[in-house]
Amino acid sequence: MLTCREFADFIMAYLDGDLPEAQREAFQEHIGICPPCVHYLDSYKETIRLGCLCRDGEGPPPEDAPEALVEAILAARRKG
Ligand SMILES: [Zn+2]
Repeated sequence: MLTCREFADFIMAYLDGDLPEAQREAFQEHIGICPPCVHYLDSYKETIRLGCLCRDGEGPPPEDAPEALVEAILAARRKG
């Protein structure tokens, strides 16, 4: 069973489509039992979408994004 912390760690790989089958199943299972993580995933997707809009520039992340999501954007930029 995935913890919420692990869930958060897997989100990026999940959205990139490179999460191993077993972990993807655990991830989706967690979605089914943990509404807060579903909300987090939705927020994350939205932030990624916003992040993509300014990814090519040097602009700051959206000002109203939670700090964890800002970190995610910055991580995505480093990765990409
Ligand atoms: Zn959770």
